Amino acid sequence: MVATHAEGPATDRQGIPHYRMFIGGEWVDTDEQYDVINPATEELVATAAKGGTSHADAAVAAAKRAFESGEWRNTPPLERAAVIDRVIAALTSRMDEFTEIGSRECGFPLRLSQAICVGFPLLHMQHYADLTRRYEWERPGPVAGQVLSAGLVRREPLGVCVGIVPWNFPLVLTVWKAIPALAAGNSVVVKVDEKTPIAALEVAQMLRDAGVPDGTFNVITGDGETVGAHLVAHPDVRKVSFTGSTAVGREVMRNAADTIKQVTLELGGKGPNIVLEDADLDAAVDGAAYAFLLHAGQACESGTRLLLPSSLHDEFVRRLVERLKTLKIGNPLDPATDIGPVMGPDQHKRILGYIELGQQEGATLVHGGGVPSGPGFEKGYWVEPTVFTDVRNDMCIAREEIFGPVLSVLRYDSVDEAIEIANDTEYGLSAGVWSQDVPRALEVAKQLQAGSVWINDWHNISANLPFGGFKQSGNGRELGPDALDEFTEQKAVTVDLSGRVDRRAYGLVLGTPPSA
Ligand code: NAD
Repeated sequence: MVATHAEGPATDRQGIPHYRMFIGGEWVDTDEQYDVINPATEELVATAAKGGTSHADAAVAAAKRAFESGEWRNTPPLERAAVIDRVIAALTSRMDEFTEIGSRECGFPLRLSQAICVGFPLLHMQHYADLTRRYEWERPGPVAGQVLSAGLVRREPLGVCVGIVPWNFPLVLTVWKAIPALAAGNSVVVKVDEKTPIAALEVAQMLRDAGVPDGTFNVITGDGETVGAHLVAHPDVRKVSFTGSTAVGREVMRNAADTIKQVTLELGGKGPNIVLEDADLDAAVDGAAYAFLLHAGQACESGTRLLLPSSLHDEFVRRLVERLKTLKIGNPLDPATDIGPVMGPDQHKRILGYIELGQQEGATLVHGGGVPSGPGFEKGYWVEPTVFTDVRNDMCIAREEIFGPVLSVLRYDSVDEAIEIANDTEYGLSAGVWSQDVPRALEVAKQLQAGSVWINDWHNISANLPFGGFKQSGNGRELGPDALDEFTEQKAVTVDLSGRVDRRAYGLVLGTPPSA
């Protein structure tokens, strides 16, 4: 799959690609290793060095040295954007390889892998490069009431920024953490998830080849509770951008508090998908399936609570189940596959546990619920697309993030009730409304507590729009027109042009000078 080379991320360890970490411009290995396992086949895809806290320290030290040298942060923004352009060209030339990495390492079906492991990273890097070119790095700001003063607001990099990335979208989320931080002139340490380290390490080589100075971009592996937590608490780290579960997000916020770090958190969700009575049913049925099944439901923004008006409920569920029967679950490398595996034994157990819990809670299982069997399913981690009806919003399957292909269907009798159910959650990442009356859908959208609301659509994450959560789905925004704000400090500079001492101000402290 991936070529191994002495001067790149992967070497050969017993005939398998072995990935090293990238620290201070060097490839760093360890004796201990992680196994990277294909979730569809349980085959060993690669091994990876297992980082510890000493590697986290080395990466932060290298990043700090690089930042203090000034080489990257003093590189003009236009040149930093040109470096991103070169990475875009490098990734474009290796599209097929990265599509396959996404399928083997993460279980993405090929079509989806092409879009999410290559297309999105390319589009988003392009957005960050464009933004870097037109960002207001410095702007004049008049000083209130003082004609003979000049003011200047500068946007300056923060220093060492840490990105902590989960396994579900490894390259997209590495791009969201690393590229705007680098574009703004920071140094970066990315901690990848041990299950999915490959794409970020390959991109480290691309960034180096594109001209990012050594130490400015580092990638380490390591367990979250030790290495991740160590990075978050590290006194030389100025910012942590974390994507993962809400439970770990709370811990990140606590651990960052002692050193008053800036923290961006992109956390879990329990997206309510409201179908209004006047929805186009064919579109809404497909949309409901798409909303909860992308990447076998392992997407934070999934639509996992489907809210149906009582009048449409039975017909809609019937159509949805018929549609789900047409989907092909199986080998992600088969271009005909629609739904791939879930990420590994822990995810598998967790999802099946929720399916059992849903039945115990009194929900009705109307589709799926099991593990597919037969040829092609002897190995790997598989869960059938699963639909529960008769779900109440106080059940665990309606409140907790399952992170698998499981949909909870709830009934409502008035639009106000639908909005109330939708907002009755501690999450607030995504929501959706289906209606042929767009102004009416917009009125509903305004009342939903979520960072992204899709009308007659789902998963429409656009580079030009901010993405992030309300409530316990997170803090801060990624992408969008303000993406670089998250990785810069504002500095206000004033210049007194009057050539005189300001007696009114100075006099407050110094009194009347003897000469006056
Ligand atoms: P997780 O929270 O267990 O782990 C995420 C990352 O954090 C991993 O790299 C892990 O090693 C690290 N980590 C674990 N404990 C840590 C600690 N104490 N300190 C610092 N780092 C630590 O999440 P996961 O199960 O790997 O990923 C799935 C979760 O991510 C889901 O809840 C999903 O909703 C969320 N997610 C959110 C978004 C978003 O943009 N909002 C996007 C994708 C995934």
